[in-house]
Amino acid sequence: MREKIKKIEKEIEGLSAKSIEELEQLRIKYLSKKGLLSGLFEDFKNVTQEERKDIGKLLNELKNSLQDKINNLKQKFDDLQDSGKSDIDLTLPADFIETGSRHPISIIRAKIIEIYSRIGFTVSEGPEIEDDWHNFSALNFPEEHPARDMQDTFFIRKNPDIALRTHTSSVQIRVMENEKPPIRKLFPGRVYRNEAISSRAHCFFHQVEGLYIDKDVSFADLKQVLLYFSKEMFGEKTKIRLRPSYFPFTEPSAEMDISCFLCGGKGCPFCKHTGWVEILGCGMVDPSVLENCKIDSKVYSGYAFGMGIERITNLKYEVKDIRMFSENDIRFLKQFGSVI
Ligand SMILES: [Zn+2]
Repeated sequence: MREKIKKIEKEIEGLSAKSIEELEQLRIKYLSKKGLLSGLFEDFKNVTQEERKDIGKLLNELKNSLQDKINNLKQKFDDLQDSGKSDIDLTLPADFIETGSRHPISIIRAKIIEIYSRIGFTVSEGPEIEDDWHNFSALNFPEEHPARDMQDTFFIRKNPDIALRTHTSSVQIRVMENEKPPIRKLFPGRVYRNEAISSRAHCFFHQVEGLYIDKDVSFADLKQVLLYFSKEMFGEKTKIRLRPSYFPFTEPSAEMDISCFLCGGKGCPFCKHTGWVEILGCGMVDPSVLENCKIDSKVYSGYAFGMGIERITNLKYEVKDIRMFSENDIRFLKQFGSVI
């Protein structure tokens, strides 16, 4: 017993800890309930009556010196931490924090949503992997339509057909199937087409589509909403013009141009001297599309429009190559750091 106590006393002299964790290990080894000291107190029960007084004293001394040693070591770490705190010099210039910037596509996406939200449009999103019904059939795409061809669309499976959505119109169908009019929604999202990548085309890009279904919705409503959007996005002086077009899911259909915001419509190289720049497609929702979604086309009518976010972003920031949006080139992206 005496020898054990002496051995530990010797150990105490050399105790050291490089970290708080090491110190905790030492505390557990010597002072915890299952530690060496507790073991000695257990043994003390078997000590003879004559030796009890002496060994009891030795044991208590050992306990005290162990506790002192551990406390001293702990104090050193506490002191270190305290002195670290007082080293902070609040008068020094702050460390430079590099802030990121929002992607130009995200900036324009948010801007489009913000403009339409002011007139009551809310956002809906849907899956990027779609079935034939939501991407094609419910939207009146005929069997032989080129978009149904493998060369134009990324099919994941054939029969039944599952594809990467080619437009966000599929979300329009999902909303019309599940909600009752009036419906006033925006559908932003990424879409996919099997196209050769060039400065003007990519195999994926982003769209925002809009849909308004209610009683007595007319083409005049559509035109007014698009004029409002164009002025908010491209400036108060912006004019619009609608050219007849064709889409399977709208009737009548139109493409919309805005007056060139660089030359004011006089003609310049940017607008190829026409004075106009094409920005979106639109039209009145085809009654058969409404019926496909179990909406009574005799009671309800509506309009839809859709634009490529890359297209709008190209125009706003005069980006000439669509590939720059997905190349992660910091030199390009950091130019948008000041845009809120
Ligand atoms: Zn122009």
